[in-house]
Amino acid sequence: MSFRTSSVRVALGAAILAGNGALAHAQRGIPTPASILGFEPGADRHLPSWKQITDYFTALDKASPRVSVRTLGKTTLGRPFLVVFISDSSTLANLEHYRQIQRKLMDPRLQAAGERQKLLDEGKNVILVTSAIHSNESGGFTTPIVLADRLARAADPEARTILANTIIMLVPSQNPDGVDIVGDYYRSTLGTPMEGRDPPNLYHKYVGHDDNRDWYAFTQPETRYTVDSLYTPWDPEIVNDIHQQGSDAGRIFIPPYMDPVEPNIDPILTAATNGLGMAIVWRMTNQGFTGIASNAAYDQWSPARQYSLYHRGARLLTETASARLATPIDIPFDDLRPARGYDPKTVTWNFPSLWPGGHWTYGDIVRYQTAASWALFLDAAQDRRAWLEGYASQADRAMAAQPAWGHDAWPTAIVIPKTQPDTQALKRMIWTLQHGQVEIRESTAPVTVDGKSYAAGSYVVLTKQPFGGYAKTLLEHQAYPNLFDYPGGPPKRPYDVTAHTLPLIFGVDVAHVTGTAPATGAVLKEIPEPTYTSPLTGKSAKRIAMFRPSATEPIDEGWTHWLLDTYKIPFTTITEKDFTGASLNDRFDAIIFPEGVVGGGGRGGRGGPPAASTTDVFAGLDTFVKNGGTVLAFNTASTAIIDGLKLPVKNALAGVRNNDFYAPGSILAVEIKRDHPIARGFTATVPAVWFENGPAFEISDSTQATAVASYPATGNPLLSGWLLGGTKLNGKAALVDVKHGRGHVVLYGFRPQYRGQSMATYPLIWGAILQ
Ligand SMILES: [Zn+2]
Repeated sequence: MSFRTSSVRVALGAAILAGNGALAHAQRGIPTPASILGFEPGADRHLPSWKQITDYFTALDKASPRVSVRTLGKTTLGRPFLVVFISDSSTLANLEHYRQIQRKLMDPRLQAAGERQKLLDEGKNVILVTSAIHSNESGGFTTPIVLADRLARAADPEARTILANTIIMLVPSQNPDGVDIVGDYYRSTLGTPMEGRDPPNLYHKYVGHDDNRDWYAFTQPETRYTVDSLYTPWDPEIVNDIHQQGSDAGRIFIPPYMDPVEPNIDPILTAATNGLGMAIVWRMTNQGFTGIASNAAYDQWSPARQYSLYHRGARLLTETASARLATPIDIPFDDLRPARGYDPKTVTWNFPSLWPGGHWTYGDIVRYQTAASWALFLDAAQDRRAWLEGYASQADRAMAAQPAWGHDAWPTAIVIPKTQPDTQALKRMIWTLQHGQVEIRESTAPVTVDGKSYAAGSYVVLTKQPFGGYAKTLLEHQAYPNLFDYPGGPPKRPYDVTAHTLPLIFGVDVAHVTGTAPATGAVLKEIPEPTYTSPLTGKSAKRIAMFRPSATEPIDEGWTHWLLDTYKIPFTTITEKDFTGASLNDRFDAIIFPEGVVGGGGRGGRGGPPAASTTDVFAGLDTFVKNGGTVLAFNTASTAIIDGLKLPVKNALAGVRNNDFYAPGSILAVEIKRDHPIARGFTATVPAVWFENGPAFEISDSTQATAVASYPATGNPLLSGWLLGGTKLNGKAALVDVKHGRGHVVLYGFRPQYRGQSMATYPLIWGAILQ
């Protein structure tokens, strides 16, 4: 197949087109990517290291006035985190001027009378490119090099249009550590049977593939760099989020997304995403690209993945088919498989041209990603003014009578009392909201909601504010629609989880005000993030271990590691070999089993990892508990340990079909036995757990096992998200303390440390270790 977009041809074309002497002079010193990397970007079996990538952008910055590189900070493992600004040199020389225009369009309160037309005339369409947040999606850290080279070098009309009308903020990798974790493993396994496989460790120290689920909780420094230095000062009109998917369906996914659409997203952005996505499909099809799918697999529900959809920016997720990292693969047409929303062997409106099958390379990935990004840039540039008008309209709607769209009236405000059962959780909630550009004020008089009075000086979030929809999303209970694959069929799997209600997962009380908004003072300054402490912080009263299999590292293990490090709780990681030989009781008092480390069911990135071989582990564990040790088993790990240690507890949901019970990431009500030692630190007024495809327990021997948390005996336990068949949980236990010999096994039928967010249930972890 031949394409007219190869970087070699573009470079030649640019040289021919550069008739202007000054321009030709400006471009003469621009280094080629190959001169820095030592190979062409996208060459088979050549992944660039993070040093090669930063060397390239540093050299390009020096050589091109259209490129300005900034280091935003150090990553989790100490690498530089980069952003590359690309625009006309005159725009780059006046970036602060254009940022001010962007701010004024974002917030009408900042505009002088009659100023708007000038802002619309003069402003640029700001585009953020977040590439390679997932480090095994390796095209993502090569495509930015090709894009930057082309924009720095080219003098053709398309490039000039892009440079004149846009400001591109290019993040060459949203996870630089992973570029080397994956790349080093790839280079060390070249020529072996492991070539092209993912490494055994998470490609982000703590969160692995979940690093793109952090866009409202901001737990990781990499998320914070992009939010603090790019989103917050700029609130870009468009985000180009470059990803890869599996190998055996379409060649690339481009929006529109599948349903559902989260109802607080301004419809301007849904329409903008749909329109721009279809324009990209059209341009790429013109150029001969095939196998392009839309309205497939990916939905528009969670702010965890799509911060920009709540901050004025269309999010154009692209997902290109993977090879085996940089190693080519062959996929005959007959081996292509149906995906969610289309069949790659059948032409449909959302899959207009068939890919014929065959050889698929790293270079193909880079070509698809580059073509999609270029088409995005070009449409954004050509329609600059319409994008800015839509952007300003969103701002007007956010500050006008509500609802600006939809049917149901919005609350006018949400009150957050300053007296809360957990002060750290309150501070974290205020910090989290403010970090996402939510304005927090204080009431100037008492506020009465549903007969309850809240003192003057309470925190107040007005929904009429620039990002009021975002605040509302995070502070209300989600009502996920009941969607099925077909009438009478199984539930339609959401792309990710279905709930994100901060008051429930943090354990903070709030009250929604309808009618007249409370009187408030000025916007408060951002408070600092609290210093997190627990009864175990910094102490060695208990010797804690966490188990992970040696062959793989499930994401939940990473999140648990993050939790313990964040709370400064010392622990030791142990693997299978620690269960043979010396007594575990001599070394540890408690061992944590995160989800997925035994029994499968955990999230380990693409495909999911094999769990540990468990015979030795369970034998050693049985002895450890009988001799007085404590085991904590999170979510699906609990059922494996029930079987392995033959505990008198059953999973009431074993074998139940999705049609009869389904909860793919929801917040459920529980009743807590507050006088139990495990629950003594639990403070939330509305007890809630993060339920995600977990078990629910029935106790067979109540002399040995005690329910510490249970689902209500009647009614629907759903508080936020999606739950089918909720009555199956009635009276079942969510948290069980099992006496086993002289020790305890504590079974969690939920994720007590869900993605570093479920603060309300952290005390159930501390309590189990300390009991
Ligand atoms: Zn991805």
